[in-house]
Amino acid sequence: MKEIYQSLGISEPVYRLGEEILQTLAERFARIDETAEYNQLKVIRAMQRHKVSEACLLGTTGYGYNDLGRETLEAVYAEIFGTEDALVRPQITCGTHALALALMSNLRPGDELYSPVGKPYDTLEEVIGIRPSKGSLAEYGITYRQTDLLPDGSFDYDGIRASLNEKTKLVTIQRSKGYQTRPSFSVEKIGELIRFIKGIRPDMICMVDNCYGEFVERIEPTDVGADLVVGSLIKNPGGGLAPIGGYLAGKKECIENAAYRLTSPGLGKEVGASLGILPQFYQGLFLAPTVTASALKSAIFAANLYERHGFSVLPDGSEPRADIIQAVTFGNPDALIAFCEGIQSAAPVDSHVVPEPWDMPGYDAQVIMAAGAFVSGSSIELSADGPLKEPYSVYFQGGLTWPHGKLGILKSFQRLVDKGLVLC
Ligand SMILES: *Cc1c(COP(=O)(O)O)cnc(C)c1O
Repeated sequence: MKEIYQSLGISEPVYRLGEEILQTLAERFARIDETAEYNQLKVIRAMQRHKVSEACLLGTTGYGYNDLGRETLEAVYAEIFGTEDALVRPQITCGTHALALALMSNLRPGDELYSPVGKPYDTLEEVIGIRPSKGSLAEYGITYRQTDLLPDGSFDYDGIRASLNEKTKLVTIQRSKGYQTRPSFSVEKIGELIRFIKGIRPDMICMVDNCYGEFVERIEPTDVGADLVVGSLIKNPGGGLAPIGGYLAGKKECIENAAYRLTSPGLGKEVGASLGILPQFYQGLFLAPTVTASALKSAIFAANLYERHGFSVLPDGSEPRADIIQAVTFGNPDALIAFCEGIQSAAPVDSHVVPEPWDMPGYDAQVIMAAGAFVSGSSIELSADGPLKEPYSVYFQGGLTWPHGKLGILKSFQRLVDKGLVLC
């Protein structure tokens, strides 16, 4: 084993360090495998109950009327999330599109959108109109309000009670911290928040941005009262195989509204050819529980390895996980760059290219990204990125297989060692 790692550029001390860390993680990894086992069975049971058959793997063209595979897949998603209905489409281009669709279809002029968990994901600022943008909710007369989390990361229940008003129609709760420094929320915590809100306004539509959270736990937000969950298929539920797509799962009315918006009033879910993409959607979903487990193990391994060497990591090496994102703070640009170079050099695709910081549209500092992915931009595949500014944090996620995640983290650490940025 040591030799094959050596042939990939991992020195003996770094290899040994990795093995030492892993010995301390056996118990946690076993629990992650149990969650994957449970979720794998949940997925298989849903596929069996809805009689997924060979015919479901064929695609339609043109209008896509009576697309058996598409309709069955949506029923399978609804079953897994415990909802009345679901919309799972390649015509939903990404996570932001899925979220925009959910919001634009379920809100009307005069309604207010409310976030009780502070600022939403960056790309939603333009959807909402927090940053002015063509076609935003603000342009259609939909207002927005938010309540920040308390300094300790908990919900500001008094602030939330005071913010709910007669215009509030939809509450959006982001499960994952994304690229912020607040904690990500467990499904149980989300359930508490929804119970509180519904205690005041039983009719409120509670939506959860589920990106990066699917299959991390045995339950999903829709099991604890969410009316709608939304996510991207090039993250967890696509299992690395879906090359595009987004999903919504929830109350029949919410899904119907979204379908009328995605296609057209009057057409809704009835159209939308699946072309040839359904095998990847089904097989990706089938793999998603174990792929998510691999990404979780990779994140926990990274947290423990870097924590041991004095870097601050979020979440820390021992806390429970609510999503697959791991932040490591280096406090210096050279280490951030070295980390990303190491991740890139472990990739199955484009391992020979060296990532460099660049001026990315929409960012106030240069950003460095490592991604050697089969699906462009896929962040369920091993990937890392970070802005070149204080405190020089990298956000690391994914790993379709645990051995690849492990190699990537060892390569990142090796790069820091080789550049004299850390001692091993
Ligand atoms: C990734 C992500 C999004 C947006 O998804 P894209 O596919 O990048 O558009 C929204 N919210 C959260 C929490 C995410 O992680």
